[in-house]
Amino acid sequence: MTNTGYSLDLSEDVQEVKQWVHEFARDVIRPAAHEWDEREETPWPIIQEAAKVGIYSLDFFAAQWLEPTGLGIPVAFEELFWGDAGIGLAIVGTGLAAASVAAVGTNDQIAEWVPQMFGTADDVKLGAFCASEPDAGSDVGSIRTRAVYDEANDEWVLNGTKTWATNGGIADVHVVVASVHPDLGSRGQASFIIPPGTQGLKQGQKFKKHGIRASHTAEVILDNVRIPAHLIVGGKEKFDERIARVREGKRSRGQAAMRTFESTRPSVGAEALGVARAAYEYALDYARQREQFGRKIGDFQAVSFKLADMRMQIDAARLMVHRAAWMARNGKDFDNAEGSQAKLLASEVAVRVTEEAIQILGGNGYTRDYPVERMHRDAKIFTIFEGTSEIQRLVIGRTITGLPLR
Ligand SMILES: Cc1cc2nc3c(=O)[nH]c(=O)nc-3n(C[C@H](O)[C@H](O)[C@H](O)COP(=O)(O)OP(=O)(O)OC[C@H]3O[C@@H](n4cnc5c(N)ncnc54)[C@H](O)[C@@H]3O)c2cc1C
Repeated sequence: MTNTGYSLDLSEDVQEVKQWVHEFARDVIRPAAHEWDEREETPWPIIQEAAKVGIYSLDFFAAQWLEPTGLGIPVAFEELFWGDAGIGLAIVGTGLAAASVAAVGTNDQIAEWVPQMFGTADDVKLGAFCASEPDAGSDVGSIRTRAVYDEANDEWVLNGTKTWATNGGIADVHVVVASVHPDLGSRGQASFIIPPGTQGLKQGQKFKKHGIRASHTAEVILDNVRIPAHLIVGGKEKFDERIARVREGKRSRGQAAMRTFESTRPSVGAEALGVARAAYEYALDYARQREQFGRKIGDFQAVSFKLADMRMQIDAARLMVHRAAWMARNGKDFDNAEGSQAKLLASEVAVRVTEEAIQILGGNGYTRDYPVERMHRDAKIFTIFEGTSEIQRLVIGRTITGLPLR
């Protein structure tokens, strides 16, 4: 057969990673899922176990981000979240903070701070990325946390309240988005690295959530937090140059930020996909065993059509996620916001599929004795964080029409 260069096969390396992470998810994460959902606490022993085998480590994340086909991260994340979404997020949450420094940080910042976010197998650490605020969720341009440069001490002084921060307050390194030039909206913002033990940073309320309850989500309060000038991500000189260009009306930062979002959204889609697949598989097994009216319930067309739709939607979402991840790795333009498309479809599929799984399990599905109830609660987060479904549609609509849709 002629090799056309087009293939949907996973590379051997990615297949190996998939198998390895799958086994960890099956043997370590799944058995712990119910307990940590009920406890609503960070599953430290599971993170430590993941660190011991090498899955919670900078090396693992870096290797998957750099994996040449682009599928390393989506495949690994799908397996982790197939194990459990709350524990999955407890394991990958640091990645958001790490990626925010790795994407625009200086080489020195990357070398010094990203490893500190993960710690070591014997001494595990966490990172937190804090952008959202009580009055700035979808509208990130209205962030009120201020970073003021104190020339006399060559320091930044940060004040404000962050909310919804995954690992907020329990992380060793926090990356905080703050406004330096409020008149410039999101273009006047920068990210700042807050080192472990910095005075003035403290955790506010920890949220009691509907799902992903093993993942810690909390407010982070910054009260006169002072950090050395060089801890602005990307460096102060570059930031000042960028601001000067913006003031001259020369360059919009919006496009670069959009490209970053398009590249990272497929990984969130992959997380949703893991939850959807887990619920589908559970419902499929159940439908093959449970009998009513003297037949397996899967033998009723009403039930098997549900399973057919669930399977089809999961496969469609996976193709979209893999396409967008491949595009990101290969530097393709996201002319139709393919990254947002992938996240939007996968997250909505996860909500639908987990709901149908409950329906297939009947009364059992509605109880905490069966995992699909937890999966349904967990799935909902994917239509909310990292850009709500409405924001994804807005981005896709704007991209395809070229109009400033509101
Ligand atoms: C469990 C969890 C973990 C999180 N982790 C982090 C984290 O680690 N770091 C971080 O910075 N943030 C985090 N977030 C915050 C998350 O990204 C925000 O919740 C999300 O961006 C939505 O913001 P909001 O909650 O303020 O909702 P709002 O922006 O107030 O939106 C409310 C509703 O209005 C709709 N809406 C808003 N604007 C528009 C518009 N222009 N057009 C149409 N509809 C619109 C929204 O789609 C939504 O339905 C997390 C949130 C949760 C729940």
